[in-house]
Amino acid sequence: MAQPTQKAVIEGVRILAPAVKEFTLRPLGQLLHFKAGQWISAHLPVGDSPPLIHAYSLAEPEHPSGLFKLCFDRVPDGVGSGYMFTLEAGDELVYAGPYGNFVLPGEDPASYIFVARFTGIVPIRCLLLELLGSSFAGDILLVYGAGNSQDLIYHDEITGWVERHRNFSYVPTIFAAEDGWKGRVGTELDALRLLVTERKGQLPMVCGGSDMVRPVRSFFQELGFARREVRCETYY
Ligand SMILES: Cc1cc2nc3c(=O)[nH]c(=O)nc-3n(C[C@H](O)[C@H](O)[C@H](O)COP(=O)(O)OP(=O)(O)OC[C@H]3O[C@@H](n4cnc5c(N)ncnc54)[C@H](O)[C@@H]3O)c2cc1C
Repeated sequence: MAQPTQKAVIEGVRILAPAVKEFTLRPLGQLLHFKAGQWISAHLPVGDSPPLIHAYSLAEPEHPSGLFKLCFDRVPDGVGSGYMFTLEAGDELVYAGPYGNFVLPGEDPASYIFVARFTGIVPIRCLLLELLGSSFAGDILLVYGAGNSQDLIYHDEITGWVERHRNFSYVPTIFAAEDGWKGRVGTELDALRLLVTERKGQLPMVCGGSDMVRPVRSFFQELGFARREVRCETYY
């Protein structure tokens, strides 16, 4: 059954990296009520049989203003993201939702381990904003990887959280050495192998492409986590 769609107008566009944009949108009809970590489906007027329907995660928790944010990368030759990249302030976006179960659990775990690659940080940053604004006092670890430091979107903002939240640790990693980069070099999995050596009540939440999500999920399963205990949002 076709899902009812809504329209929103783009109020602002921010360029976060050479191929990454963030939109601030204002719904033109009903407000969008959602949980941090959920996504909307954008109905894009492109492709062989429009609309081309693609998922985009909500980039920040629900705000009293009703504005919401999306953040996406332009995939080389990607029809949907290529179209999204051409949109400007004043343009409209048709969407349905929210959808998805990649949300914080009803009951707090002892600690959280978040793992993201590139724009996989979008729902995870949203979850972190929610969590760091809550009374949760357990440890929160974020391992965040990208091909290069420019693609670690929101890196400066996330780095700032470390000083303000004593229970938050941030491990950014890039896949090849770079002049001026003082952080880790290697994959998210390389970092996890050093940082997480046993299962002790953590909740792993992982987001990115299947090339990262699959091996990271296997890593946690090798530590004794059941498959369903590793929450994953797989973009492709
Ligand atoms: C639940 C969910 C939430 C998502 N949230 C976001 C989001 O917040 N931001 C976002 O940028 N994308 C997100 N995506 C991916 C998005 O829906 C599209 O797949 C993406 O924009 C590519 O669409 P396209 O038509 O340009 O390329 P397509 O022609 O559909 O894809 C071409 C190829 O590009 C690769 N690919 C797909 N998505 C990406 C990506 N994001 N980065 C790099 N390579 C990719 C895949 O290998 C794919 O086969 C999400 C996907 C899912 C399932």
